[in-house]
Amino acid sequence: MDTEKQRWHTLETEQVLSSVKSDRQQGLSGAEAESRLEQYGPNALSEGKKKSVLQVFLEQFKDLMVMILIVAALISLATGEAESTIVIFAVLILNAVLGTVQHFKAEKSLESLKAMSAPSAKVIRDGVRTTVPSPQVVPGDIVELEAGDMVVADGRILENYSLKVNESSLTGESEAVEKTADVIPKGDVALGDRKNMVFSGSLVTYGRAVFVVTGTGMDTELGKVAALMNQTQQRKTPLQQSLDNFSKKLAIIIMAICALVFVLALYRQKPILDALMFAVALAVAAIPEALSSIVTIVQAMGTQKMARQNAIMKDLKAVETLGAVSVICSDKTGTLTQNKMTPQKIYADGMLLDGDQLDLANDVQRLLLKEALLASDATTDKETGAEIGDPTEVALVMLGNRIGVDEVAYRRQHPRLGELAFDSDRKLMSTFHSVEGVPTLYTKGAIDVLLERSAWLLTSQGKVEMTQERRAEIARVNTELSRQGLRVLSFACKELEAVRPLTLEDERDFTFVGLISMIDPPRPEAIQAVADAKRGGIRTIMITGDHKITASAIARQLGIFRDGDEALSGVELDAMSDDELDQRLEKISVYARVSPENKIRIVGAWQRKGRIVSMTGDGVNDAPALKAADIGVAMGITGTEVSKDAASMILSDDNFATIVKAVVNGRGVYTNIKNAINFLLSGNMAGIFCVLITSLANLPMPFAAVHLLFINLLTDSLPAIAIGVEPAGKGLLDQKPRDPKEPILTRSLLTRIMVYGALIAAATMGAFFLGLNNGGDALAMTMAFSTLTLARLFHGFNCRGESSLFRLGLTTNKASLGAFAAGVVLLAAVLFIPGLTTLFQVAPLTLPLAGAIVGLALVPTLIIQAWKLIRDLKKGR
Ligand code: ATP
Repeated sequence: MDTEKQRWHTLETEQVLSSVKSDRQQGLSGAEAESRLEQYGPNALSEGKKKSVLQVFLEQFKDLMVMILIVAALISLATGEAESTIVIFAVLILNAVLGTVQHFKAEKSLESLKAMSAPSAKVIRDGVRTTVPSPQVVPGDIVELEAGDMVVADGRILENYSLKVNESSLTGESEAVEKTADVIPKGDVALGDRKNMVFSGSLVTYGRAVFVVTGTGMDTELGKVAALMNQTQQRKTPLQQSLDNFSKKLAIIIMAICALVFVLALYRQKPILDALMFAVALAVAAIPEALSSIVTIVQAMGTQKMARQNAIMKDLKAVETLGAVSVICSDKTGTLTQNKMTPQKIYADGMLLDGDQLDLANDVQRLLLKEALLASDATTDKETGAEIGDPTEVALVMLGNRIGVDEVAYRRQHPRLGELAFDSDRKLMSTFHSVEGVPTLYTKGAIDVLLERSAWLLTSQGKVEMTQERRAEIARVNTELSRQGLRVLSFACKELEAVRPLTLEDERDFTFVGLISMIDPPRPEAIQAVADAKRGGIRTIMITGDHKITASAIARQLGIFRDGDEALSGVELDAMSDDELDQRLEKISVYARVSPENKIRIVGAWQRKGRIVSMTGDGVNDAPALKAADIGVAMGITGTEVSKDAASMILSDDNFATIVKAVVNGRGVYTNIKNAINFLLSGNMAGIFCVLITSLANLPMPFAAVHLLFINLLTDSLPAIAIGVEPAGKGLLDQKPRDPKEPILTRSLLTRIMVYGALIAAATMGAFFLGLNNGGDALAMTMAFSTLTLARLFHGFNCRGESSLFRLGLTTNKASLGAFAAGVVLLAAVLFIPGLTTLFQVAPLTLPLAGAIVGLALVPTLIIQAWKLIRDLKKGR
């Protein structure tokens, strides 16, 4: 370790600390940070040993199917067809190169997604607080932490405000540990006892702190652990696994049929090598060589597209699950609504007034405003006039600004002596001030919490007892405001006996001051998205920390809450048994004043009904619910790092409509993969039928192994990828959510594969006989090969979607046109370029025969399109 690194690692003495403390306001300069970034490298854990290019390349040959092909090449060599052997090996190498490129491309695309979802850190540089992506944090940086943050580097705590962190990623201990800024005597101290240090990978569960970075990347405690572990294997997605299983089963069936064909040929007294070539052709015809790479390519392209549309998927597996989502549980504030709060009516001293009618001559109204400005952290940017901070608190500052009251002057007059920060569980926030020499606590928060804790009511006649009638009157006003969809914040105060540290116990026996209501309009696009989701058989549920009546009113505006639906509060949910919840579940569309535990129960209840559930969350405590949901969704802008870590999808615009869009995209990716499988397998089926027919009828071979490899690996791959990028059609929203248990190869898909395969085989056999009658075995083979290739290229258009091309539009998928053209060029090259004609053993074609190939190849597509058109017309599409 060089001396500079050493300096930061031993940063534990008072002496060094005090030097850093004097830098605390300033932090590193931008230039210093940059030079340290160069010196130490990016703050990222190396992912253990990455596979080398050669390793990945060699792995491509481990496949059972590839083994069969190598055997085929050797058999070709034995039969004296050296050209075939060369072509098979060339194709195999090309395939392995493509596989290797695709492996690294997929890895890169996953890495870029990872980088997009990497946590960020709040650092002080050049005296300014900026947010930087975690890889750019360097030793010596001053970093601020607050609840919900992820610690991105090791460091020594300089200032501590009740910091608690979860260090389970390092110690395995799930209980949060308290931290201190005190100097711990040096010596042999265990990790968990180094309470003045924070470690990379820990999560802040409570409080705030400022620390100086002492180690980054592999120089952290987590880095040391990571270095010991090898790279974790990228797990295959369920779809990839089921396709792998399918391929294995297919390989066994193929080998059995090959054996049968071989025996049959011997029985017909064909020479043994000819019999072997038949078996080899069948094996090559049947193996969908490109299937697995194409599925991965389509999935990777799907995630890139989603990222461009603000939904960042953290793994490929989630894309498949996404398409099966049938319940979306969404937070209200900021996701379904705009999170732009503006003040509306206020209630104080028994009067309900408009915000701008606030009268500072009235003692209660004046105190209400004073409290609103003192017990909040939002501010106004003096230059632009824009309000900055938590939207609920911004509304309070706006209220002051409307009647010309400057929050800064108020705050300077009454400095804050202490605070109990807002937390969604408590739903309160308190600040402590000296008001004319009297230590006073100002508390604001949810009315149901604060009203219960108020023993007095402030009126212009002074403090009066909070009677049942007065409480009922305030509750009535709250209901009236909430019914209009307004968020109602309540305010109370209390005198303390002395200036001292605050505890949560202080938040009781209040004097109630009044109410300030604010409006947070629904996002217009959310209304459409809720309707779209409903059309697609997806139920939207609102889950919020807000009041039940406010939430129901907003849910009604959004189309989530309909006549006959129910709204439930967290307390009511707690009182319910699981059985009761299961019975009423379908009716409940709004959950208000929920706790993070409530979210987990709601997810569990829907999952018991076999539904695939997505759940949003932004707080630290939401992490377990995000993990429990099938698709946990975190907020990219307002979400905590902890929630982003637990989620499988991050919304970079915090918008509900993006979730619905992502589900539609997930459905699209799944449908496209299914269509690509349909295309590849039906084409293969055509090849199998032809080889089986010719072998059973004791005819000459319809194709050489190279022909089938050429089709499977080259001319078929291009349309398959084009099908994979088919734009999501509107029809996706008319489908019901996919049954997650349904296998990808359904009976209806298998039937279609058979029928399409039979049609293409019929055309190919037609060409085969034409060749046989006009020139013999070699011409028959050339005709069969060309027709099969071209028919499969045409067939690419059939598999783009359920509907006919008239409905889909020929030019709506440009890639499919490009794939077709490229396929035709490749086929023409093989048929007409001299060297290639020898390699592919093709006979010369006359113009009429070439015309016959095109005509025959088009027939299956014409029949399929006619059938689709009739079905479209019947369905009124
Ligand atoms: P969501 O709908 O996303 O769950 P929410 O904003 O409705 O979010 P919380 O932020 O947990 O939920 O707020 C719950 C309640 O706490 C609010 O209805 C309000 O009464 C109160 N509250 C919100 N922000 C503050 C704040 N800054 N200070 C005091 N009380 C607040």
